[in-house]
Amino acid sequence: MKIMINGIQSNLRFSSAHVIPGHESCGYIHGHSYFVDVEIEGERAGDFEFVVDFKDVKAYTKAICNELDHRLLIPVYNDLIDIKDFNKKSDSIFDLKEEKTVHFKIAGKGYSIPGEDCVFLPLPYSSAEELSKFFAETLTKKLAEKYDNLEYVAVGVNEGIGQGAIYKKVLDD
Ligand SMILES: [Zn+2]
Repeated sequence: MKIMINGIQSNLRFSSAHVIPGHESCGYIHGHSYFVDVEIEGERAGDFEFVVDFKDVKAYTKAICNELDHRLLIPVYNDLIDIKDFNKKSDSIFDLKEEKTVHFKIAGKGYSIPGEDCVFLPLPYSSAEELSKFFAETLTKKLAEKYDNLEYVAVGVNEGIGQGAIYKKVLDD
């Protein structure tokens, strides 16, 4: 059986700034009011014969939204983003948040911004495609700590109403 959660109606939302380096119009820092839809399929199980408790799905998804909310999303592994004094191959991205000011270039343009104003993501892009994959994988990992009856977790990340990407994470047996 399948359960679905509507991000607008369940308040799974976040507002963030991002940039798609090198893109004609999205190569400038701009923002979206995102919302996140979730669809999960699995066997019904446990005391209440749920597929999964809505409360858990909403709490875990909301926690990811809160991490990204009101921040500039920086996809650290983008080829056109160059962060000063940071080696993508050997340095930890967790350290970047601790930096008072982070200096970086996006497609050659220079920026300086407090580390706490950013979220540094281990992704090549902050597109809806990559964000939906990030949400699905993070949510699946968290749900797998409690549930062993799930077949897949699909997450849709929408850049406002009318456009979004869905990534389906299939669980291994
Ligand atoms: Zn955008």
